[in-house]
Amino acid sequence: MGVLYKSTRNSDNVVTSSQAILMGLSVDGGLFVPDHMPKLDVSLETLAGFDYKQTAYEVMKLFLSDFTEEELKACINRAYDAKFDIPQITQLHEADGAYYLELYHGATIAFKDMALSILPHLMTTAARKNHIFNEIVILTATSGDTGKAALAGFADVPGTRIIVFYPKHGVSPIQEKQMVTQTGENTCVIGIEGNFDDAQSGVKAIFSDSELRGRMNAAGLQFSSANSINIGRLVPQIVYYVYAYGQLVKSGEIECGDEINITVPTGNFGNILAAYYAKQMGLPVRKLICASNSNKVLVDFFRTGTYDRNRKFILTMSPSMDILISSNLERLIYSLCGCDSEKCAAFMDNLKTDGKYTISDEMKAGLSGFASGFADEEETLEEIRAVYDRSHYVIDTHTAVASRVYRKYREETGDERKTVIASTASPFKFSRSVMKAIGTIPEGADDLALADSLSALAGIQLPRAIEEIRSAPVRHRMVIETCDMKNTVEKVLGL
Ligand SMILES: *Cc1c(COP(=O)(O)O)cnc(C)c1O
Repeated sequence: MGVLYKSTRNSDNVVTSSQAILMGLSVDGGLFVPDHMPKLDVSLETLAGFDYKQTAYEVMKLFLSDFTEEELKACINRAYDAKFDIPQITQLHEADGAYYLELYHGATIAFKDMALSILPHLMTTAARKNHIFNEIVILTATSGDTGKAALAGFADVPGTRIIVFYPKHGVSPIQEKQMVTQTGENTCVIGIEGNFDDAQSGVKAIFSDSELRGRMNAAGLQFSSANSINIGRLVPQIVYYVYAYGQLVKSGEIECGDEINITVPTGNFGNILAAYYAKQMGLPVRKLICASNSNKVLVDFFRTGTYDRNRKFILTMSPSMDILISSNLERLIYSLCGCDSEKCAAFMDNLKTDGKYTISDEMKAGLSGFASGFADEEETLEEIRAVYDRSHYVIDTHTAVASRVYRKYREETGDERKTVIASTASPFKFSRSVMKAIGTIPEGADDLALADSLSALAGIQLPRAIEEIRSAPVRHRMVIETCDMKNTVEKVLGL
């Protein structure tokens, strides 16, 4: 039985997987969720023998039911190729008693590449399947990494355009340089005078503006999303958890059926939700450990059952996790309330009007598979230093948050189970903070110079993505107020 997708806010809105990918978000503002959770239909022994692309096919075919084998394999082959700097696409690195799953070997050196290198292919295939002749306009809010990965994925893809909004003062200099130097005639990058939540809310509002949708359609255009609210992002992210498990079996670290823990540095709750889906598909996982930085709205939610975004937004050295409204949590809430879309919609309504909601004790009991914790700025730096000192392994600030939270979890619980830590960005992307932790910062050195210093200090080669931006000209200079997002989009699209 194939999987269909329902909206978390109105279960009467049911679409196929290709339609869900095209739409991004349901018209009622809800997120699409699978109507049932498919189970892995190959044995763990078999999976252990699969390479990344084979694993991708085995997982994705279960969720993208209306794609043919040929279509899906074509998408996979075009996505996971020499854009990645290791042939195995991702790898586990054992250091300091944990297994770091390096998800940053793609074109823009953050884990977003794992899904965004395939999303454009899934989307253009989906358009073809649904006889859509409109040009697809990808509208994306980014906390730093999604923007560049989406731009790289969609640049010059026929039949698409992409507009990216980023918080002008909320991303690292290297993240910003990566975005504003983006080539491609169909790309547009805009800074906003606001934070990521402002950008995300603005994008969501534009999406659910039916008057605008009508005018777009008349002009032969339609919106879609490259944010992790799109199931075309989520599904490819399930793949690497299944792959990581297979690799642990293959290398003899675990036996088939052994449970592992997974720790994820979390922002919008997409990456950890993918791990949760992997578990629901039958992957042997004990705890999902949700790691936050000082913006610890999720940690408080897991502890108290109240999600409360009414607090100060803190800019940290792990900017891709500086988020107070974790959109994908809505999918977990939906699952916790027994797939009752009315209940889920009511919670989201409360979030919109009061900035908070509280789940019932019964729902809270459904969270037992999760653990959570946070690491502040000092702990993040200490963790980078500690891992480097003990194992000569360099991790970025986001991964360091997860690593520290895992270590605290292990000390508190005594749980010695093998644990995979999602390593979400290359340390070169956050060279200043990493050098602050393990080296010295010469006066006046910019972030690119610090990337060179990091390369020399740790003896690791500078990634291609950093080399590329060194001399690239700035192509995008627009900065706007948050309230101007909609009319800027109209202007850019000539509406
Ligand atoms: C996006 C991002 C995260 C957060 O992932 P979510 O899926 O939004 O929870 C963590 N680390 C890095 C480096 C990222 O780019």
